[in-house]
Order: sequence, then C-alpha cells, then structure tokens
Amino acid sequence: METLIPDVIAQRVHTILTKIRLAEERAGRPAGSVRLVAVTKTVKVEDIAEGVGAGLSILGENRVQDALGKIPSFTQAPVQWHFIGQLQRRKVRSVIGSFELIHSVDTVDLAHEIDRRAGEAGRRQNVLLEVNIGGEPTKAGFHPDDIVHSIARLAQLPHMCIKGLMTIPPPTADPDSARPYFRKLHDLARQLAALALPTVSMDELSMGMSNDYEVAIEEGATLVRVGTAIFGARHV
Ligand SMILES: *Cc1c(COP(=O)(O)O)cnc(C)c1O
Repeated sequence: METLIPDVIAQRVHTILTKIRLAEERAGRPAGSVRLVAVTKTVKVEDIAEGVGAGLSILGENRVQDALGKIPSFTQAPVQWHFIGQLQRRKVRSVIGSFELIHSVDTVDLAHEIDRRAGEAGRRQNVLLEVNIGGEPTKAGFHPDDIVHSIARLAQLPHMCIKGLMTIPPPTADPDSARPYFRKLHDLARQLAALALPTVSMDELSMGMSNDYEVAIEEGATLVRVGTAIFGARHV
C-alpha cells in the first residue's frame, strides 16, 4: 500500500465532489442527486479517515473480511458502508447488519439467501441488482432479459428491498464509449419501474468509476463508485 501525503487525498475528494456537481449541472440534474461511494478496497484506515475528514460519507468495499475489519474504526464517523463486490452465499450472514446497501446481487439464489439471513436478523436489507449490461460471458450479473423475468419473484422477498440497478460496463478505451452501456442500464431501470411492483423502486443507478463517472452522471447515475481517483493506484 502506498502512503500518500494526507492533503493529496483531501484535495482529490474536493476535486471529485466538484466534478460531480458540475456533471449534475451539465445534465440538468438537481444538485445532490448523485452520491459518491468512495471505494476503499486495499486502502488503509488512516487514508480512509483522511478522506472522511474531507467529506466522504459513503464507503464501498468489495471483500467481506476487509470491510468487517475496517468498519469498527469508523463507528464514530458519520459514514455508511456499501458492499460492492461479488458476495458468496456462505458470507451473507456476516454482512447483514453492516451494510446500508448491497450493490451486487447477481443471482436469484443470492437474493434468496440475503432475504433468509436478513429475516433471521430481523432486518430488511436494501439491495441493488447487478446487471451484466454488456452481456460479457465471464462477468457477474443478471442478463437484462433475465432480470425482467425474475424481478416479480424477487420483489416478493419480504426481507429485501430492491432500490435499483448496478453495472460495471465492459472495459472501454475512453469514457465516452461507456455511454451507451450507461444509457442501456437507465432504460432498463425505466422499464422495470414501469412494472410498478410494490416493493421495488428504481431510484438508484450505481454506475461509473474513476475513469467514467462524469459520463455516468450525464446518463443518470445516482451512485458513482470511485476508488483510484481518490486513493491512488492499488498495488495489491
Ligand atoms: C474497485 C471497484 C470500483 C472502483 O474502481 P476505480 O477504477 O478504482 O474507481 C468500482 N466498483 C467496483 C465494483 C469495484 O470493485
């Protein structure tokens, strides 16, 4: 892990929050309609704390063990944690209660397990459904057509609340090439919202990372997941 001069992280946070505001403005969206999820995977607690001091309020992790190790260091801070990585069924029990939002529900099976474990814990877990928007063979996520067929059943799970969709588009050479994928996710969210299922809202679109979050905001992102642009390159 690299050690940064603390001010560097604070500076980057300010820059990104400004860029988010400008992108909202360009897109004619109200200020505050996009929230920054700072992706803290592999980042050490001191560096995360620096970012929190500079205004980060949502922290995203993609590994259960790493996240659970860091969360206790921030119980005094006004932050919430989001889980953004692939979640194994056997780890579901340990994430319930620690994450405000799970971005990465990618199978019907996982949804059922989350519902079961949240029920046991007397909770209702907020989730996003992850969509493999580019239809890539090796990538996690629901195929767009499958989601249309599965969502009515998922909507009936009593201890899970579907808040929207998440995607990681195929890698592209430049940010603008990701635009059609972001647009496609937004269209899918509109289509699902039109089903008007009682427990499903399509309020949140989690899309856009360090390289392309401004384009994602122009296309309707409400949550952008940014790691490298805040904390620097990851070395692990
Ligand atoms: C690592 C990660 C990010 C952040 O990627 P950067 O390019 O570092 O901004 C976003 N989303 C997910 C799911 C990730 O695993």
